[in-house]
Amino acid sequence: MLYEKIEAMLESQFEETVANRRYLHQHPELSFQEKNTKKFIKDKLLSYGYTSIKEEVGGGGILATLDSGEPGPVLGFRADFDGLAVQEETNLSFQSTQAGVMHACGHDAHTAGLLSLAKAMMPLRKEMCGKIIFIFQHAEEEPPGGAKSIVESGLLDELDAVYGWHVQGDDPYNGKIYTHKGYAMAAADAFSIKIQGKGGHGASPHTSIDPAVIGAYLIQQLQTLVSRRKDPIDPAVLTVATFKAGEGAHNVISDQATISGTVRTLDPKVQDMMEQGIKDLTEHVCKAHQATGEVVYERGYPSVYNDPEETALVEQLFKEKFGQNMVSELPVIMGGEDFAYYLKKKSGTFFFVSGGTLEQEELFPHHHGKFSLDERSMLTGAKAFALLINHYLVTKVGESV
Ligand code: MN
Repeated sequence: MLYEKIEAMLESQFEETVANRRYLHQHPELSFQEKNTKKFIKDKLLSYGYTSIKEEVGGGGILATLDSGEPGPVLGFRADFDGLAVQEETNLSFQSTQAGVMHACGHDAHTAGLLSLAKAMMPLRKEMCGKIIFIFQHAEEEPPGGAKSIVESGLLDELDAVYGWHVQGDDPYNGKIYTHKGYAMAAADAFSIKIQGKGGHGASPHTSIDPAVIGAYLIQQLQTLVSRRKDPIDPAVLTVATFKAGEGAHNVISDQATISGTVRTLDPKVQDMMEQGIKDLTEHVCKAHQATGEVVYERGYPSVYNDPEETALVEQLFKEKFGQNMVSELPVIMGGEDFAYYLKKKSGTFFFVSGGTLEQEELFPHHHGKFSLDERSMLTGAKAFALLINHYLVTKVGESV
C-alpha cells in the first residue's frame, strides 16, 4: 500500500521535520517580507530532488510539482509560511531570534509538515499517477494575502482539488482532526462612515446640522440589517467599534462624525446585502436629516467554503485509518483565512489538526506571545494528506490509467 510507505517515510523523517520547524520558528518573517523563509523552503526542495519549482508566484509563493509521468488527478496541498508582529514570550529553547516577530499561529508547523510530505513523496512518485503541486504560500496574515494572487497566476488551474490544514491549539494534542462541511470560516470586512453635518453653537442646534445625533440614529438602524433584513438562520455580525464626534468642547456641535466597525458573514449573498444595506442606510438616514454620508467598505478574505463531498472523504479516510472517534465536527469559526480563495475556484477542504500543548502552565491562544504547539500535529496533518494521495493517486497494477 502506498499509504503505508508514505507513513513510514514521514515517521522516519520526524526528527528532521521537527528541526525544520524549529529553524523556521527561530527565524520568523512578517507577511510579504519572507525572504529567508523562501530561500529555506527552496533549498530544502532542491535537496529533496525537486526540479520543477516556481518561485515568486503571485508575488511570493513557491510551487513545487511532483509529476508521476502517468495521467491522473492533480492534487494541491498548501502550507502558509509567514509570521506575526508578536513578541515571543515562551522561553522555548528555539524561540524567535527576531524581536517583535513570532510564528504565533503555527505556520512554521504547516510548512515543515508539508516539506516532510514533499520529501517522502519524491522516491515514491513512480508508485502514483497524476501530479501533486505543493503550494508554499506567503502572507496569509496580512490582507490582501498571498492566496488571491497565487490563484490569479493561473498556475493552479490544472488542480482537481486542493487541501490545507491548520494547527488547532485550543485543546491538548490528541491525534484528531476537526472538520466542517460547507461555510466554515467567516468573511471579515471593515467599514468606515463619515457623516458631514454643519457645526455650530451647542445652544443653537437649529442653525447647525448635528452629526452626533444622526450618527447615533444610524448606529441603531445598522443593527436592523442583522435583526430584520437577513434570514435568522444565516449568521452575520455587525459591530460598530468606534464613534467619534467633536473635539472635546462640551458646547460645540461638530461638523463631522465618524463611525467604524466590522462585518462578519458566511454566505456571500448576505455579505452583499450587508454592504449595500450599510450604504443605503447611511445615505438615507443622512439625507433625512439634511447631512451627507460617505461609506468606505473594505472586503477582507472571503468566507471559507468546504466542499461537503471532499470534507466527507477526508473524514472517512481518517476514521478508517485511525478510528471513528478521531474526527470531530468543529463549529463555524468567525475568524478569516485566505485559503478561501483556493476553495472559491477549486473543490477541496480546509481542516484543523489537534496541536495544543501543555508544556507551559496553560494553553495560550493563537496570536499570543506564549502560543505553542505539539509538534506531533505535523505528522497528523501530513498523514491526512497522505491518505488523500493514497485515495486519488494510486496506480492500479494491471489497469490502464
Ligand atoms: Mn493562521
